[in-house]
Amino acid sequence: MKPIQLDGTTGGGQMLRTALTLAMITGQPFRMTHIRGKRQKPGLMRQHLTCVKAACEISDGSVDGAEIGSTEIIFQAGKLRGSSYQFAIGSAGSATLLLQTLLPALLHADGPSKLRLEGGTHNPLAPPFEFIDRVFLPALRRMGAEANVSLLQSGFAPVGGGIIECEIQPCAKLLPFELHERGELQSLKLRVPIRNLKANIGERMLAAALAQFPCEDATVEVRDPGPGRGVCCLYEAQFDNTAEISSCIGETNVTAERVGHRAAKSLQDFISSQVPVGRHLADQLLLPMALAGTGSFTTMIPDAHVPTNISIIEKFLPVRFHLTQGERGRVTLILSS
Ligand code: ATP
Repeated sequence: MKPIQLDGTTGGGQMLRTALTLAMITGQPFRMTHIRGKRQKPGLMRQHLTCVKAACEISDGSVDGAEIGSTEIIFQAGKLRGSSYQFAIGSAGSATLLLQTLLPALLHADGPSKLRLEGGTHNPLAPPFEFIDRVFLPALRRMGAEANVSLLQSGFAPVGGGIIECEIQPCAKLLPFELHERGELQSLKLRVPIRNLKANIGERMLAAALAQFPCEDATVEVRDPGPGRGVCCLYEAQFDNTAEISSCIGETNVTAERVGHRAAKSLQDFISSQVPVGRHLADQLLLPMALAGTGSFTTMIPDAHVPTNISIIEKFLPVRFHLTQGERGRVTLILSS
């Protein structure tokens, strides 16, 4: 079979991860050039390389160009095999993004699977573990998927060392995803997980977040003893029909106050948008929705991940996404086959 030609210039690691997942499910090989073409350090970083190697292992596949820094790969999957697998990124690279690469594929395997993934669980620019557990997976369950995750150890950049386990049951066909109203707010909480840092960093972060977006149920949570150190700020809003976790991860040279403020601002934007699907969930739902064949949801004005992800999905599957902008920044995304 001739490989599908893909150009990664316009996006980041997500274009590669989406291509890997769809290549495993559809059996279509691909060649991607200019991987992460416009990033400061283009090509495969350790976390992307782990995704490629893990995809090869779970699908008995083959790859050319799987090296750190490589800007081009050719990937061909074989047969997906449900089994127990362990993958370690070997850095603080995101274990949650690795999970999102493998999970939809293993739903299509010939039996149940168990994954143990090691890397970062709370990274800037990636879903924190809690987002996977309480926002992404519940959305997937609405589509009929059966998967559960547990956090054995949190891992913060730059050390990593986080451990996630995931159990996945095969699912013959995902159901269409439809979500346009979020319903009433049921609960709101604010958590500041912190490890091996002075307690007052967590308290300052919490106070800054609360000053921007008040919340009665708010605490600093000292995380299990573990490697490295880190802190993050997580607001969790549960609605009748959906959930959102707005987060910001602490980084060197960013004050605790600024991290708290960013998480609160992001929640504020979501709350005032009145949509059920937040900006991050929107781009993460495109692939599972496309596997279902039809569906629609209402979200906020999307960021660049949505068009780049769509451009890859439409190369593998006979689907079309249509976006229409409504009032007050509401965007409806409709998928048709
Ligand atoms: P690159 O280094 O090339 O940017 P990457 O592999 O680190 O690549 P992206 O391609 O930017 O990452 O994809 C990041 C993914 O993480 C997207 O799906 C985005 O929606 C998601 N994401 C980023 N921040 C958050 C967050 N705070 N909460 C939930 N999801 C997030």
